[in-house]
Parts: sequence; C-alpha cells; structure tokens
Amino acid sequence: MRQARPPGVVQMADDAGLEQRLNEIRGNSPRRTPDVRVLASFAQNTTCRLATLGFAAGVDFDRLLTGTRLQAVFGLSPFSILRGLTFEKSLRKDDYFLTRELLREPLGFPASGARIVNLREGFPAGNGRMPARLKATSGLISEIIQGKNNAARLIDGAVLTGNIGGLPAFFEADALAVDGRANEIRVAEVKSFPKVDDRVDPDQLGAALDQAALYVMLAREAVANLGGDPLLSVSDRALVITPRNVGLSPTLSEQRVSARLTRLGRVLAGIPNARDVAAATPADISFGPVANETADERTRLDSLHSIADRVGTAYSPNCLSTCGNARFCRERAVCGGSPALTGSTVARLLPEVISLGRADLLARGATPTPAEVPAATLLKTAGRLIDEVLSPAPARSIA
Ligand code: SF4
Repeated sequence: MRQARPPGVVQMADDAGLEQRLNEIRGNSPRRTPDVRVLASFAQNTTCRLATLGFAAGVDFDRLLTGTRLQAVFGLSPFSILRGLTFEKSLRKDDYFLTRELLREPLGFPASGARIVNLREGFPAGNGRMPARLKATSGLISEIIQGKNNAARLIDGAVLTGNIGGLPAFFEADALAVDGRANEIRVAEVKSFPKVDDRVDPDQLGAALDQAALYVMLAREAVANLGGDPLLSVSDRALVITPRNVGLSPTLSEQRVSARLTRLGRVLAGIPNARDVAAATPADISFGPVANETADERTRLDSLHSIADRVGTAYSPNCLSTCGNARFCRERAVCGGSPALTGSTVARLLPEVISLGRADLLARGATPTPAEVPAATLLKTAGRLIDEVLSPAPARSIA
C-alpha cells in the first residue's frame, strides 16, 4: 500500500525535479560541493536533521551566517592561502622542473620527456568545465592503463567523479602521477604545511591522506569503468608533497591509505540519500533568507531558528569543531537549557528530556511522559541520593 505523503511535502518526478527541489531548499545561500573535509565532518553529524538537510542540499554552513555575530570561525589564514598558492606555482614553474626532480627517483621519472598534462588550464568556465575535465582525465587514464607510449606521467588537476548520497559529484585531485616501472597510478596531494626535520604535523598529514584516500577510491572506480584492473592500476600508497622547513623546496611523504579507504567506504555508505531527504522536507523551507546579507541579523537568525525548529537539531559540543552552524546551535542550546551542554555522556543518559530544567523537575518527582520514563527513573534516584547527602545530619545528644 502506498504511504500517504505528509502535507506540504513535495513530490519529485525525476533527477531534474530533484535538482530543482534542492535548488529551492538552498535558495541563494552559499553552495558547497562535498570534499573529504566536508564528508568527514558530516560523518560526525549524521544524527542532526538540520545538518543532513544542509549537506543533501549542498548548503555551505561555514558561510551561511556570514555577517552575523554567529558566523563560523573556520578557515585558513590569508597567509596560509598565499603560501599554498606560491608553493603550487613553484611546482609548475619551468615546465614542472622541481616536480620532475622530486619524482625522478621514487617514481622513475625520466630526466626529460615525461609528459605532464595540466587540466586546470584550457577549459572554459561554466557548468561544462568539470564534466569536460572529467572526460579529459578519463581519456588520459585510459591511455595510461593501456600502456600507450606517450601516455601522461602526471595529470595536474585530474577530475574524478563519485556518487555522494545518490547524486554525482566532481572531485579535483591535485595530481595523478604514474610510476613508470609498474605502470601504476599514484595519487599525490600538494600541501603547504612544512616538513621539519623529516617530520610532518600528524594531524595535517592525516587530513591530507584522507583526501588522497578518496582520490584513490575514485581513481580505482574510473579505471574499473574503463575496463582496467583497479587494484593493479591504482596504488594505495599515497604521496604528499610539502615544502621543506620555511622554504619552498618540495619534499615527499609516502603512506599506505588502505585503512583510510575502509573507513571512507563506511562514511560514504552512511550518507543519506538526497532524494529521501528532499522528499521529507516541507515545501516552504529554504536557506535563502538565512543567507541574505542585505536583511537584518534578527530576521536571518529567526529564519534559521524556524528551519531548525521544524526539521530538528542534535547539538553536542562536538559540533564546535565539525559544523559551521555550531555557534548558532550552541546559543539555542544555552537558551533552551539543553542537556547536550553538559556533554555527550549526560545527554545520552537523558533521552527525550528537552532541558536541564525539565531534568530538575523529574529529579524532584514530576510525572514523566512515557518517553521520559527511562531518564526519569535515573533522575529520581539521583535526586534522592543528592537529598540524602545534603540533608543535615541528625543532632547528636550529649550525655
Ligand atoms: S551545529 Fe547545529 S546544525 Fe550543525 S550538526 Fe550541530 S546541531 Fe546540527
């Protein structure tokens, strides 16, 4: 039997209908395409329906509240961005001289003649740019796995595709390099953080390797689609190129990402389907008014409160490092006296208890709703123990 559709929920006939529906939900809010950082952050917030809706619709929560007192405080410093751009430029300079030298020994790059293709150039801007680069990447990978004579040894700015929550998404890998001795593709990530005394910051290296793992996964899918052997053709030994110390001379770090591939597979499998999310979203919900920087702050924040009230949130202190809405949701949690403010352990012990005030009443013996019963039993016991501890001891008689 067909289930009745909740009132105000929109039906989507096809992919175009889904895209249009997601556009309506997004409104004019800043858009975000998923990358590894976004995927990893969202993987920690899948129980939050507001985060799920924003992710499915491609809303950039890091920029949604820009211009308000609750705007996100993430992001690289201008100095880091400039250093990154300068480092990347140095790797391309003089027909990739430094890159060729760097890869000569570990990947058997010849002293001259290795073909390098830069897919960041030569493609007009617009909606067709990423599909065109994807097609070019696929053609170059096809030549590599066929072992063609003049196949590329390095693809700068390769574009790969993957399915995220039921929707195709494009990903730009810094580079795909080829180890000529094994005819094996190696994913290379370029980062501007330094390698000092042969050591790289483990957190930054870990994030770069997570990124590389995604590209390994997608490159293997591309090879499989071309009829090649993905495991033989794409190595799980990722390369991370970083500058040495405070200078710009490049160094290489190399690590297997097989465990990261497994973890990534679990993250991707846990992403809800965008069609289901959109179908369950009331018709008049849109992030456009929230992002409208010409509107006053109160109106923008009220719009987000309205969406949050209707779809639901799941604030925890963890949100502060994983979601751009964290300051907004923390303020909501403070105003509402949410148990989540006390940390995830206490919040887990108080399911369905909406506030610390309500927890206090239940501890003093208020009648719980059926959903509150498990927490109320605990709270009542805790309340009794506290009363016993705090009640004055009976006066001792002196003989
Ligand atoms: S900050 Fe808010 S929107 Fe983001 S995951 Fe936490 S509760 Fe959800």
